[in-house]
Amino acid sequence: MLDPSRILQRCDALARHSELPDGLTRVFLSPQGRAAGELVLGWMREAGMQAGLDAIGNAVGRYEGERPGLACLMLGSHLDTVRDAGKYDGMLGVISAIECVALLNAEKKRLPFAIEVVGFGDEEGVRFGTTLLGSRAIAGTLDPRVLEAKDAKGISIAEALRQFDLNPKEVPGVARKKGAILAYVELHIEQGPVLEAENLPVGVVTAINGFSRLRVSLRGEAGHAGTVPMKLRRDALAAAAECVLAVERLARAQPELVATVGRLEAKPGAINVIPGEVQFSVDVRAPEDAAREQAVAAARTEIALISESRSIGFEIETLQELGSSACAPWLMAQLERAVRAEGLRVLRLPSGAGHDGMAMKAIADIAMLFVRCERGVSHNPAEAISAEDAGTGAKILYQFIHDFRPELPA
Ligand SMILES: [Zn+2]
Repeated sequence: MLDPSRILQRCDALARHSELPDGLTRVFLSPQGRAAGELVLGWMREAGMQAGLDAIGNAVGRYEGERPGLACLMLGSHLDTVRDAGKYDGMLGVISAIECVALLNAEKKRLPFAIEVVGFGDEEGVRFGTTLLGSRAIAGTLDPRVLEAKDAKGISIAEALRQFDLNPKEVPGVARKKGAILAYVELHIEQGPVLEAENLPVGVVTAINGFSRLRVSLRGEAGHAGTVPMKLRRDALAAAAECVLAVERLARAQPELVATVGRLEAKPGAINVIPGEVQFSVDVRAPEDAAREQAVAAARTEIALISESRSIGFEIETLQELGSSACAPWLMAQLERAVRAEGLRVLRLPSGAGHDGMAMKAIADIAMLFVRCERGVSHNPAEAISAEDAGTGAKILYQFIHDFRPELPA
């Protein structure tokens, strides 16, 4: 039997591995990430899988099919979190997949394909500002130069991997061969209010919106807050404030596009000093790649104009860019069959948030099942789901796995 209460208990257990005493923050390659990974590997083994960390720090479990070495259906989600996160975003997908394998194992069922469950180490990108490291490594699209990216303390990913007893030189070996993954399917909380409004426990995802992430650096001149007249100032923070509002204005002008400045740092950061340097992030997402590209270009122009009008030096770096990722119709059809088997109406919806499927698409067809969360809240400690919905999601995932038939290339 699938055990919904065990799924939620395990989400609780993972949430205890946190940097915060009364909240959840667990970033890539942290001691808390290590502990969470070990917990997950233990559950995988208990469910009959061979399990271990790969060289980029993903927790990977494998349940062989009718004979060893078959291509796999890959299921998974991520184990890292945003700051002050909820306990289901990511973890629910990993734990639900393990629960499904545990049931197959208990029933001594072997399928005509292997199943792999992956708890990706870095999806959110909180620590190094660059996302999807785990899934990009598996898909074989991780540029090794990315491993030089540094966290706020100046520690590079490569260094952090070594501190984690992993060898950064082995990261390219994490990449799978074409054909080794029959499909990638992820169960995830919706992170939005649509399913609740439709009174449905689950929905089938059509596509994951594309995104662009920029880092903007503005350089003015620091000076005494008391002695430098307003006219003679080159205040980098005042310029940044204009830029933030320009980004918001651009996004509001496009119906399906969203843009966010989520991080801003002013230096030297003293009450009596004019800010001389500012760095801020820009995150732009849209279902249509052309609309997103246009908005990013417009944002770059606005930032340039604002900076020039204030004699501020500026630099705009693209940290990451990914086009929107369509889910495969053949996989959606199989998921929808499993949804209907539960007596539920099928609702299709796009994903406004990014997911590992965006990276996995480079190596396999992808699909996603969304599970309703209360009030659509995520990236927040108030994130909640019901045991009933967790159970329904896992049941549908199990049915999908059980009946899964790969679409072989013609
Ligand atoms: Zn997530």
